[in-house]
Amino acid sequence: MIVILKPNATKEKRDQLIQKIQSLGLSVHLSEGEHTTLLGLIGDTSAIDPAKLESVEIVDAVRRVSEPYKLCNRQFHQEDTVVNAGGVPIGGGYFTVIAGPCSVESEQQILYTAERVQAAGARLLRGGAFKPRTSPYAFRGLKAEGIELLLEAKKKTGLPIVTELTSLEHLDLFNDVDVIQVGARNMQNFDMLWELGKCKKPVLLKRGLSSTIREWLMSAEYICAGGNPNVILCERGIRTFETETRNTLDLSAVPVLKKKTHLPVLVDPSHATGHADLIIPLAKAAVAAGADGLMIEVHPDPVNALCDGAQSITPDTFDKLMQQVRAYCALENKVCE
Ligand code: PEP
Ligand code: MN
Repeated sequence: MIVILKPNATKEKRDQLIQKIQSLGLSVHLSEGEHTTLLGLIGDTSAIDPAKLESVEIVDAVRRVSEPYKLCNRQFHQEDTVVNAGGVPIGGGYFTVIAGPCSVESEQQILYTAERVQAAGARLLRGGAFKPRTSPYAFRGLKAEGIELLLEAKKKTGLPIVTELTSLEHLDLFNDVDVIQVGARNMQNFDMLWELGKCKKPVLLKRGLSSTIREWLMSAEYICAGGNPNVILCERGIRTFETETRNTLDLSAVPVLKKKTHLPVLVDPSHATGHADLIIPLAKAAVAAGADGLMIEVHPDPVNALCDGAQSITPDTFDKLMQQVRAYCALENKVCE
């Protein structure tokens, strides 16, 4: 349930109302926007009579929220959330590009890629250290050493880093990581989501392989409910009957999410398509669909990449992608530095 306050509501009267609602066993989420102040009521609101609440002097209107996700619901928080990702804004009027290899392979590979993607305009560096692989015999990442190499690249370039957590056991290694990625395969690892709610670091939550938008938002709600509002959603394609592409990029999820949630939404055309030549067109389409940024796999030598080479673009192609994406951002009035 949402309580919209009148513009002239004093802080004193507002606090009294919050206390009264809390005394009924509900928690209250206060959202102070530029034009409106909202109280989001969380818990069992069935005993509350909206008409009675509406008769309170400082209350303008009361609305029931039918969706099960509350904290990440746009109705609870009308302005876009801008997540501070190691000093880089994600969301609002910004268009932020994260780029780097699927997995960290060597010092030279990550340093060279970091420098090239930074020069082209990426604001964050990605790279997997712990890789969730379908086959146990495939390269599963450099693990702790991979994180060390990412930190070295961060030190050299100043780029904040994004890397995937595959198990809570490894969380101690992530102290200096700027954004923790929860991969598609862990989107419904509820214990992990709840723990990440406590740790306050920005979390990049990828869409599950076969998850609905509602399930995805419920996973985001776990992190928010745990106490961490810094959630970034990333559409990375879903399973369909189509086999020409690795997954099917659900671009319609972008405007749907922008309506339903205030959280930033990124698009990952690399995992969505599985093909390097499809990355630029879909990156441009993501801008047009209203995304807040991109996550792109870039490798200096895709043919010899240890993971996801077919979908990785070279630094030269990434230069072209950024030039074209910038032009699209200008049309959409998005800031892409
Ligand atoms: C990745 O980003 O490298 C990755 C494994 O992505 P996803 O979880 O979307 O498959
Ligand atoms: Mn990958």
